[in-house]
Amino acid sequence: MKPPPFDYHSPRSVGEALEILAATGRDGKVLAGGQSLIPMLNMRLAAPGHVVDINRLTELAAVTVGPDGVRTGALARHAQVERSGPVAAAQPLLRRALRLVAHPAIRNRGTVVGSLVHADPAAELPAVLTLLGGSVRLARRGAVRDVPAARFFTGPLESAAEPDELAVSALFPALPPRSGTAFHEVARRHGDYALAGVAARVRLDDDLRVAAAEVVCVNAGPVPELVDVTGDCGHRAPGTADWGAAARAVRDRIDPEADIHASAAYRRHLAGVLAERALRDAATEAAGG
Ligand SMILES: Cc1cc2nc3c(=O)[nH]c(=O)nc-3n(C[C@H](O)[C@H](O)[C@H](O)COP(=O)(O)OP(=O)(O)OC[C@H]3O[C@@H](n4cnc5c(N)ncnc54)[C@H](O)[C@@H]3O)c2cc1C
Repeated sequence: MKPPPFDYHSPRSVGEALEILAATGRDGKVLAGGQSLIPMLNMRLAAPGHVVDINRLTELAAVTVGPDGVRTGALARHAQVERSGPVAAAQPLLRRALRLVAHPAIRNRGTVVGSLVHADPAAELPAVLTLLGGSVRLARRGAVRDVPAARFFTGPLESAAEPDELAVSALFPALPPRSGTAFHEVARRHGDYALAGVAARVRLDDDLRVAAAEVVCVNAGPVPELVDVTGDCGHRAPGTADWGAAARAVRDRIDPEADIHASAAYRRHLAGVLAERALRDAATEAAGG
C-alpha cells in the first residue's frame, strides 16, 4: 500500500518546526524514525495532510547524562541510547528494555521519544518512563512544558502531546542508592512485541530490607500503570521477602486484554510469573549482587 497524499515539510530548526506545527494543527504529524508512522500511513490508519520531518534537527539528537538522570533528545535513536556506556551506567534499565525493542534495523531508525509519543501499550519504553517517574518535554510556539509520565500516557496510542506540540526530549531519572531494576518479557519470536512484560524496581533501606518494590507491566491495560507491591512483599531482606505474594498482587491489579495472540487470562498469568522474576532480580541488584 502507498500512503495517502500529504505535504512534506523538512524544517531546518526547532523554531521552524514549531511554526509549521502551529499552522498545520490537527492536520500535521511529526515524522521521527518513521518505524510506526510510515506503516500507519501505508495501511491508511493515519492520513495527515502535512508530515513534518524532524530528521534535519540534529540538535535534538543529544543524549545527556547528569545527576538527575538521562535526557534523550527527540532524535536519539534506540540503538544510540542502547549502545551508550554512560547511559547504561546511569540508568541500566534503558539498555535492558531497548534490547527487547524490535530488531536492530528498527532500533537504528526508531527514536526513544517517538516510542513514548506513539504510546503503544505493548511498547517497552512507556513502561520504563512510568516506572522511573520520568517526564516528556513538549514545546509549542512560545511555550515549553514538562509532562510527568503518570499524566503523559492518556490511552492506547494516545499521549498528552497536542497536535501543535513537538516532544523535544524525555528525562529518565537516575535511581536512588541501594536500588535495582530488571525487565523481563515473553514474545512469540525475538523482536516481536511482547505478549506480556514487566519492568521492576526495588529499593532497600539502610538495613538492606525492602523499602520500595514497584512494577509496570507491558500489554496489561490501556496505559502503563505503576503497581506498588511494597506492602505485599514485606519489609524484609531480599532473600526472605514474599515475592510470590507480590506477584499475586500484580496479577490481581492489572487489566490485560485478549487478542489473537493471547487470552487475557494467559497474559495475567504471564505477568505474575514475570513480575516475580523481575522483582527478585531487581532486589538482587539493589543488594549489590
Ligand atoms: C516490525 C516492527 C517491530 C516493532 N517492535 C517493537 C517492540 O517490540 N517494542 C517497541 O516498543 N516498539 C516496537 N516497534 C516500534 C518502534 O520502536 C518505533 O520506532 C517507535 O514506536 C516509534 O518511534 P519512531 O521514532 O519510529 O516514531 P515515528 O514512527 O516517526 O512516529 C510515531 C508517532 O509518534 C509521533 N512522534 C514521533 N516523534 C515525535 C516528536 N518528537 N514529537 C511529537 N510527535 C512525535 C508521530 O507523529 C507518530 O504519531 C516496532 C516497529 C516495527 C516496524
